[in-house]
Amino acid sequence: MTEPIIKFDKVVKRFGSHTVLDHLDFEVNPGEMVTIIGPSGSGKSTVLRILMTLEQIQDGVVTVEGEPLWHERKNGDLVPASEKHLRKMREKLGMVFQQFNLFPHMTVLRNLTEAPRQVLGLSKKDATERAEELLERVGLSDQASKFPHQLSGGQQQRVGIARALAMRPKIMLFDEPTSALDPELVGEVLKVIRQLANEHELTMLLVTHEMQFARQVSDRVCFFDKGRIEEQGPPDELFTNPKRERTREFLKAVL
Ligand code: ADP
Ligand code: MG
Repeated sequence: MTEPIIKFDKVVKRFGSHTVLDHLDFEVNPGEMVTIIGPSGSGKSTVLRILMTLEQIQDGVVTVEGEPLWHERKNGDLVPASEKHLRKMREKLGMVFQQFNLFPHMTVLRNLTEAPRQVLGLSKKDATERAEELLERVGLSDQASKFPHQLSGGQQQRVGIARALAMRPKIMLFDEPTSALDPELVGEVLKVIRQLANEHELTMLLVTHEMQFARQVSDRVCFFDKGRIEEQGPPDELFTNPKRERTREFLKAVL
């Protein structure tokens, strides 16, 4: 049996008295492409943000490659992880946000070279080579010297994906990467995500409302509702033969 690369074990996340994740159990295997669907407010973004250590949890354990994100057991006691440990864990993951979050005052090329140089210590030459390769992969070789505001939303989001990939993460997280785009620009971004999924090298976790796309590219679809996984399974099963009433209601509303 393969060890899951991501594991949520009875994870509780609260904001004040509002429980967002209620003893969530969730696992992702290495190389798997998992899509999370579900109503607004069901905790989808929170799951990704916890993995990026942008949010703390109140109970349970989150592990990436078998190592807990925040707490390590020493002589049976739980102790908070060090900043160094968190940095190491964060480097395993890349995230693409709905609002592209590019550095506005940097060229496209510099957006891609900055973190590899500052965080990974790559030379300017190596970082530039890596960036150029990635820009070619996302079809933006001719845009390297532009600034984000000179690009379309679809182009900016492809830069966002390339920028995350420049850190060579093992896991890519996408939080509604096409929700902020004009409809005619959605396809070019989905095409890049589809290419990545087809390569089967990365583990991918995608939150999306693009049901057709989820159905085509996912190994597994998870339907989140009220901070729990209401139902999950292979896309063809979940979309054509949902077992739970809540899943049926949701799919009826969005399909
Ligand atoms: P989704 O991505 O599924 O729409 P989220 O994970 O963003 O849902 O949010 C889940 C719930 O947590 C929502 O009810 C939201 O209002 C609440 N929430 C998210 N972030 C915060 C925060 N920083 N402070 C308080 N409540 C929050
Ligand atoms: Mg969200």
